[in-house]
Amino acid sequence: MARLVMKFGGTSVADIDRIRNVTRHVKREVDAGHDVAVVVSAMSGTTDQLVAWCEAALQTRRIFDAREYDAVLATGEQVTAGLLAITLQDMDVNARSWLGWQLPILTSNVHTSARILEINGAEIVKRFAERREVAVIAGFQGLHKETGRITTLGRGGSDTSAVAVAAAIRADRCDIYTDVDGVYTADPRVVPRAKRLAKIAFEEMLELASLGAKVMQVRSVELGMVHNVRIFVRSSFDRPEDVDPHGIPPGTLICDEEEIVEQQTVTGIAFSRDEAQISVREVEDKPGVAAAIFIPLAEANINVDMIVQNVSPDGKTTDLTFTVPAADYQRSLDVITKAKKTIGFKRLDGATDVAKISVIGIGMRSHAGVAAQAFQALAERAINIRAITTSEIKFSLLIDAAFTELAVRTLHSLYGLDQATA
Ligand code: ADP
Ligand code: ASP
Ligand code: MG
Repeated sequence: MARLVMKFGGTSVADIDRIRNVTRHVKREVDAGHDVAVVVSAMSGTTDQLVAWCEAALQTRRIFDAREYDAVLATGEQVTAGLLAITLQDMDVNARSWLGWQLPILTSNVHTSARILEINGAEIVKRFAERREVAVIAGFQGLHKETGRITTLGRGGSDTSAVAVAAAIRADRCDIYTDVDGVYTADPRVVPRAKRLAKIAFEEMLELASLGAKVMQVRSVELGMVHNVRIFVRSSFDRPEDVDPHGIPPGTLICDEEEIVEQQTVTGIAFSRDEAQISVREVEDKPGVAAAIFIPLAEANINVDMIVQNVSPDGKTTDLTFTVPAADYQRSLDVITKAKKTIGFKRLDGATDVAKISVIGIGMRSHAGVAAQAFQALAERAINIRAITTSEIKFSLLIDAAFTELAVRTLHSLYGLDQATA
């Protein structure tokens, strides 16, 4: 008998039929004798709809009251938690729904992207023992204790709820059921030849997620790593009764790198179109200029990612290029323009039609020249690289957005991922 957390994402609970399908997955595990806490997302499309309603409701002010935004967004998961408890009871499985404030799942008060601070799992664990009751927990939401307000954890946050619940109740496993049957070498929607990985190291998954692969929310991977939660990414589209509840789950295990025997140099490729490029032209090449640019951006809470500064051709002026999230593009231009006097530059250029392609692999630590191969392969396809960043287990390239698919597929083949075995 094991203690399991089973998380189901939006497409897995998209309608009543899909929720019934989830019920059968849960029932299979309960019938096998396991204690189960389920974490659910909102039905697919629901959260987007709620966001759209909030935006439409705002007419004169430009900024939401984030507390009310969270009050609206958290409703999506309430519906699915209740519906799944009903369908479970309908199949004679003892079940009870739990909202974030009921457990409670305590969070910080950073509304719209709160962090989980503490989860009280005592009551659900007691009910496992006393009533064999399945806990159906609404993902993505929590409670800020001091103000008593509902918070949400950022888009994709149900993954984080699931891993945090798994850590809190010391679950043997946290299964993330989604619409793909594991973590692939690249997004299978973009690279049809992408291969499923049997295992991936926490560090690699962290990079993949933070560089654009939305299969897991970044924070959930961080939590899994810190609390050493065994996370399986697997499909809810398998026929529930075909899966052996006592066997190793089909899918991808996210684990410590020591558990991975055959380490590839490159494990996966991620991309993000959510980038914007800003170039500050002809800034004076003297100490303090970078600070004059980046301190105001930091003060405006804008996350700068890639930074490239050219060596000055004449010793007097140079260009400085960096990237920011696309959503912060206009704000960043405004901040820099406002600081023009202190910075001292001639022109400000920007582009939003850019994409960041990232190549990730723990094996890069011990292999030189991995990035150089990519430069060559992209050059052969006339893809221009606008900026580059590297770190120990990944490198990222900024290119024109129009070449995203071509670049991802090219690099996928280049590093032999088309042939990787599952
Ligand atoms: P859920 O609604 O279950 O949370 P998401 O849509 O958030 O599911 O995440 C699953 C999606 O992540 C997949 O449909 C897939 O297109 C995308 N994805 C991106 N990169 C990868 C990858 N490397 N491996 C698997 N899926 C990926
Ligand atoms: N429903 C939320 C979202 O769409 C949380 C989640 O699905 O993980 O972002
Ligand atoms: Mg998700």
